[in-house]
Formats: sequence, structure tokens, C-alpha cells
Amino acid sequence: MNVTVFGTGYVGLVQAAVLAEAGHKVFCIDIDEGKIEGLKKGLVPIYEPGLTQLVERNIATSNLQFTTDARTGVEHGEIIFIAVGTPPDEDGSADLRHVLAVARTIAEHMGEPKVVVNKSTVPVGTADKVREAIKSALDKRGLQDLPFNVVSNPEFLKEGSAVADCTRPDRIIIGTDSREAEEALRQLYAPFNRNHEKIMAMDVRSAELAKYAANCMLATKISFMNEMAEIADSVGADIEQVRQGIGSDPRIGYQFIYAGIGYGGSCFPKDVKALITTASKLGLAADILNSVEQRNHRQKHYLLDKIEAHFGDDLSGKTFALWGLAFKPNTDDMREAPSRVLMEQLWERGAKVQAFDPQAMEECQRIYGVRGDLQLCGTKESALAGADALIIATEWQQFKAIDIKAVTGGLKKPVIFDGRNLYDPKQLARDGIEYHCVGRPSRQ
Ligand code: NAD
Repeated sequence: MNVTVFGTGYVGLVQAAVLAEAGHKVFCIDIDEGKIEGLKKGLVPIYEPGLTQLVERNIATSNLQFTTDARTGVEHGEIIFIAVGTPPDEDGSADLRHVLAVARTIAEHMGEPKVVVNKSTVPVGTADKVREAIKSALDKRGLQDLPFNVVSNPEFLKEGSAVADCTRPDRIIIGTDSREAEEALRQLYAPFNRNHEKIMAMDVRSAELAKYAANCMLATKISFMNEMAEIADSVGADIEQVRQGIGSDPRIGYQFIYAGIGYGGSCFPKDVKALITTASKLGLAADILNSVEQRNHRQKHYLLDKIEAHFGDDLSGKTFALWGLAFKPNTDDMREAPSRVLMEQLWERGAKVQAFDPQAMEECQRIYGVRGDLQLCGTKESALAGADALIIATEWQQFKAIDIKAVTGGLKKPVIFDGRNLYDPKQLARDGIEYHCVGRPSRQ
């Protein structure tokens, strides 16, 4: 099928590449000219495992093309995806500016029926707004009889495994009341629906809400475990053992119940906030979601409290090695990353940071520029050199097996603040390392 995707971010680019790989003819459009020029040469601006190879392969077959020319894109696609950002507005609700701009652009150039598919995460009722925006632009062009459909097809990929998630989705939600549009999307996604039925057709509003409900549920699991971790800390229990104890109950399950230093990224924080705002505009009290958000804010200061308890609140003259900048492993994304709160708080208290991340160093440089209290180090070992303690903010695989000699040899004194509970406290105690982690007794 001929497909057009507006927005070449984590969602748009990955979805476009995966659809192209399945044999569809895909045009990607972005307003960022630099990005499009790079993509035409196969330069993928984000780190996502497997994405570069996929993009290169499909550029070579011409299944995947890039342009900033909206007319070309709109004319090409029988199905047109909107996959642009929906950042938080001032009041916390999702800012639909980019989504509605794309809707108007589509209407400006369309001359035949189209299925417009909303992949961005948008509040309930947005499909109606997109429909109205297209309708009124078509009216102005004298094309009031030109038919089109607006479908909600929320995206559930996870950054870090986005290609795999889009290639083998758990479910594909199609929100529409049009049989025709549903059929078009069933045909589009047929290559991803062969092993077992994954397509769930539902009404538009349920589809829109399902996306928020999913992210808010996941954020709730994290904040719940973080609350348990604080209690565990105070009563002398070990949250890792508690986790195993509750995960064995299939009603709870093992997934997504790790305590840590809070969720980040471009989705959970903004989506929780947006649903709280939606509820409050409806006069509803989002008690659970408000608590989830509050706990998450507090959790991002959890390690700092431990650092201050150890070193005092004046950290001038101290240097901290920081392993992990990305908000989670296998991505270079630092949006709302706990590492940022940590670094900024450390700098405020006069400390220096020597940081290492396998993928997010360039992104860190882009965000913070060159500054005297931040040194980006080429290896995790060089980040340790002469530091007063090691802080772990992201659970990258390469941090999980600790090299005791490198840590004790590199740091001034062997002290670790681990926000991801990567190591066995007893083992580290035997190795002479002072180990502070989340929701587990520190043994010295
Ligand atoms: P992103 O910020 O990485 O990319 C958005 C892209 O859209 C940018 O390249 C931007 O230049 C482009 N853009 C903006 N306005 C445009 C316009 N008028 N025409 C063409 N391009 C335009 O965003 P993302 O992370 O890919 O997220 C996109 C949407 O998908 C958001 O609503 C997000 O909540 C949702 N989502 C994200 C994820 C994720 O893990 N990142 C997962 C599921 C859903």
C-alpha cells in the first residue's frame, strides 16, 4: 500500500521503516530539513537497535523515501499517519498544535479520499478535532464532498526495542466507526497479524483512552514499587525479595515491578499529567494518578537524599562518577531522565560529575553544552578516576557485571549509590564496597 508518515521521531521513523520492510511504499515527511537531508543519506538521528540497518535497506529498495514536501507526501499516501510530538501544554494537557498543523496540511493538498491515522498519543476527542480541522480546510477549498476518515491507532512501542515492538506488536488497536477505514488498516497491518489475531477494532474514543490507560497503568506499577521500596528501606526489608515474593502471583506478575529512581522519558511523565488534566477538566478527581506523579517526583531525589546523608549537603569539591544518562537502557533519549535531576542537584550543591553512557553522550552534550562541572568520559572506567563515589542511574547491560578492581582502584573510596539495584549488597560488602541502593539495607 502507499503510506505517508508525518513526523520522523521515535514513533514515525520506526513505524515507517517497519512498514517499508513489510513491502509497503512509504514516504516520510518532517518539517526538520536537516533531519530529512540526513535520513535521505541513511543517517538516523536517534539510537534505536536495528533501526539504521532497516532504514538503509529500505532506502535502497525505494520502499522508504523522505521529503519535506508535504504535497508529494499527501498525494502519495492512501493512508496518512500523524506521528508528531504532543508535548505538555502549560496546564499539563497535551499540546495538539503539531497534530492539528498536520491535519491542515493534509487538507491543503488532498485531492482524493484518504484515511488519516492518528498515531500520536492524544486526548480523547482529538480525532473529532482532526476531522473538523480537515473538514473546514476542505470547505475553504470548495471540496466539501471529498470523503476522508480519521482513525485512532495508538502506538505502544517501547524506546530501546521499538523496531522489535513494531515488527511483533502485542496488539494493534484500530479506533474507528468506519468499516472501510478498518478494512484499509487491516490490510496495512496484515503482515504483522499472521501468527495470531492482534488487531482490536473499537470505537475511536476507547482507542484514544486505551493508550493513556496503558501508560498510566505502567507508571502506577513503577510508583507503587517505589513507594514499597521506601517502606522496605525504613523497616529493614529488601525490596528485591519483596518483588520476587509478589511477582510470583500471576495476578501481579514479574514485569515492570522494579524499584528505582523514577520513570522518565517522553511518554510516562507527560501522559500521566495529560490524563490528570483531562480528569480535572471533567471535574473528576484523579487521586491515583496524582499520587503516581508525586511519588515519581520524590523518587528522582531518592539517591540525592542518600548522598547528602553520606557526604552532607555541601558537596563542593566532591566529584561523582555517573553511569547512565539515558532515561532507560538501549536509547539515547534523555527527556525527563532521572539522571538529569541528579546531575542538576549535584551541580547546585557544588559537585562535579564525570559521566558515561553507552549512547546518550552526544545528547547530554547537546542539552548541557560545555561546562566545567561536567566531564563526559569515553569509558565507564575512566568516569571513575579520582571520583568520591559512583552513582548508577540507568540499568545498561554493560553495568550489570561489576569489575570490583576497576571500581575500588578508580574511586577515592569505594562507595556506590545505585539507583537501579544492579548488585548484591552482601557480595559488595564482602568486597569492601559501601553500597547504597533502593529499598534494600545498605551493608558496609
Ligand atoms: P519526536 O519528538 O521524537 O518526533 C516528532 C517529529 O515530528 C519530529 O521529528 C518533528 O520535527 C516532527 N514534526 C513536528 N511537527 C511536524 C509537522 N507539522 N509536519 C511534519 N513533521 C513534524 O516524537 P516521538 O517520540 O516520535 O512521539 C510522537 C508521538 O507518539 C507523541 O504523541 C508520543 O507521545 C507518542 N508515542 C511516543 C512513544 C515513544 O516511545 N517515543 C511511544 C508511543 C507513543
